Amino acid sequence: MTPQNTFQPIRLILARRAGFCRGVNRAVSEAYRLSEPELISALPLYMYGEIIHNSGVVNALLERGIVLAHDIGSIPQGARVLIRAHGISPQERSQMQRRDLEIIDCTCGYVHRIHLLVREAAHAGKTVIIVGNPNHPEVRGISGEADDRFYILSDPEEVDLLPPLEKNVIVVAQTTWSVEKFRQICKKLEKMITTIEIFDTICSATLARQEEVAEIAHSADLMMIIGAANSSNTLKLVDLSRAVCPKTYLVQNPSEVEGILANSEHPISVIGLSSGASAPEDLIDSVRQRIIDYYTANRRKISCEYNKQAKSNMIGNRFRNTY
Ligand code: SF4
Repeated sequence: MTPQNTFQPIRLILARRAGFCRGVNRAVSEAYRLSEPELISALPLYMYGEIIHNSGVVNALLERGIVLAHDIGSIPQGARVLIRAHGISPQERSQMQRRDLEIIDCTCGYVHRIHLLVREAAHAGKTVIIVGNPNHPEVRGISGEADDRFYILSDPEEVDLLPPLEKNVIVVAQTTWSVEKFRQICKKLEKMITTIEIFDTICSATLARQEEVAEIAHSADLMMIIGAANSSNTLKLVDLSRAVCPKTYLVQNPSEVEGILANSEHPISVIGLSSGASAPEDLIDSVRQRIIDYYTANRRKISCEYNKQAKSNMIGNRFRNTY
């Protein structure tokens, strides 16, 4: 710690849009409600895939008696099954129906709209381009609507690998994809395909978080983004923040805070803190408190404030056909 900044208070800026998004909140609340002792003892409850990218929440639900299943065939006939916010493919839904499962569908409304768009396009004989991660469950679910006439693109360079496509093409995005990357891919596609409909299906929660993180990162010396390493929206926030503030760290556990702060080479005067959509409030609070405790123990003053409201349209123009 350098002498010249010993008396200068540290500013800790908290993102207003940190914590659960609406879709995750609904799925987790439903899981808690249905795992009340009188309900769970009446009929077994399964979650198909981890309901949220947070091991603390998933473990708490397992302790309440919910069973985690990765394979529909392993869920007993007639049991209740929770579908997480990412949704499932129509093929998986049919398989559940054939097993007579009681489906509790927590698919987020934003994801559901993409399913409808892609289903309609497939019925009309159109080719579907999905911008996103091919291994993400949301993208796998959406692609199941597309009748094998679909392509999944993650990077602008992949546009060059497409076969000739001249017309009847629609483009959608994974709800948690990077706004900037989606824009770059669509620009290239528009040059290549004559008749193309672009639907910007990145959800408003993702957009708002990305905007706010970019805004905070511009004034911060160090950024911490709380979330899991397998959470798509969290990793997009880390990438976005790091492009502006190179000292950006993914924080999965509050115990990582001291190491990050102790190893930062240059004096820090502003720290930004945000999270992905599946970071619970108590995890965010713990990280915030560890930062405060670290500086208090080092005899540094620290002030804590919420970011002012994020500006709109910081990242760029949105596309036509937005929801
Ligand atoms: S990140 Fe967006 S699409 Fe995903 S659950 Fe949250 S609100 Fe829904």
